[in-house]
Amino acid sequence: MLIGCPKEIKNQEYRVGLTPAAAQEAIGHGHEVIIETGAGAGAGFADSDYTAVGAAIVDTAEEVFARAEMVVKVKEPQAVERKQLREGQILFTYLHLAPDPEQTRDLLDSGVTAIAYETVTDRNGGLPLLAPMSEVAGRLAPQVGAWTLQKANGGRGVLMGGVPGVSPAKVAVIGGGVVGTHAARVAAGMGARVTVLDMSLPRLRYLDDVFAGTFETRYASRGNTEELVAEADMVIGAVLIPGAAAPKLVSRAQLSGMKPGAAIVDVAIDQGGCFETSRATTHDDPIYEVDGVMHYCVANMPGAVARTSTLALGNATMPFMLALADKGWRAACEADPHLLEGLNTHAGKLTYYAVGKALGIDV
Ligand code: NAD
Repeated sequence: MLIGCPKEIKNQEYRVGLTPAAAQEAIGHGHEVIIETGAGAGAGFADSDYTAVGAAIVDTAEEVFARAEMVVKVKEPQAVERKQLREGQILFTYLHLAPDPEQTRDLLDSGVTAIAYETVTDRNGGLPLLAPMSEVAGRLAPQVGAWTLQKANGGRGVLMGGVPGVSPAKVAVIGGGVVGTHAARVAAGMGARVTVLDMSLPRLRYLDDVFAGTFETRYASRGNTEELVAEADMVIGAVLIPGAAAPKLVSRAQLSGMKPGAAIVDVAIDQGGCFETSRATTHDDPIYEVDGVMHYCVANMPGAVARTSTLALGNATMPFMLALADKGWRAACEADPHLLEGLNTHAGKLTYYAVGKALGIDV
């Protein structure tokens, strides 16, 4: 199969759909790979890294879309890209169609077979192509939170690990899923005193079994949340209710009970955020202040570490990408019900129930 990877054109997107390692694997499986010139630059991959493993560099995205039997990307195709998709071609990328009727319509009109990263599942009911970005955002959260706590950024001027004779920072993590667990591990690794709040007792049991001694766990009752938020130097928001907006767990009134200069890192901002005072920010201007509390609410945190994010995403997508290339989409999806879950559109038909329900389109 001829696999093509264009340069991402969405604002502030530096990741790339195919790493040189993924290209090398595909070529090893007997496939041909074409990469738009400069596609890997934002993630630190030169054209020569791709040619070294046998991929061909092409000058334009148009050539990638025209020639590729499968287009591998990161972000949903933008309008100019959607015009170039066609029936019989596979598109493998993040799509997030449910809130995006325009994109959905264009994909259906194009006839492309679109497989969405975010709806591919695994045997534990997890989302294996979303998890790597949650891991990245989770590990990044205490890092950006520590920066936000610095005096020059409006923070409390508290060092995460303290020093001998001075207490470390207190960090509360609301939501102990993928983001929360990785955030708690890194915050604890920086020397902070960390407590994770979650509503799921099985999840709290798991965290306690695995991380006892590293961080504490508390049930996310209203009272416990209020108490820990008031004591915290940093609060990390990491809740998710699948398919729904994030619940508002900390009200504006509660901010006045927080320490002046405390930092909020609302990772759940891509689902609306779990603090009443959260609004999405960008890497260019990531933090703002409300009632003396500093808020960091960047909706695409993994973009800040594009190289790590690209490598992490590439590791996760590679086996699926290879199955699609080796077997063709139909046989690959027949062989793997989890990959089939990723199928969102085919030959002008919507094939994913939740998207149809959200947009009122027959599936
Ligand atoms: P996850 O499903 O692994 O974990 C969510 C956890 O929240 C679960 O353990 C659940 O029990 C808990 N929870 C749900 N309601 C709660 C409540 N009321 N109180 C306490 N805990 C509650 O999800 P995840 O992968 O960790 O993602 C968390 C959030 O981070 C999502 O909104 C996701 O979209 C977002 N995210 C944002 C970025 C970014 O760049 N900003 C990147 C990746 C993920």
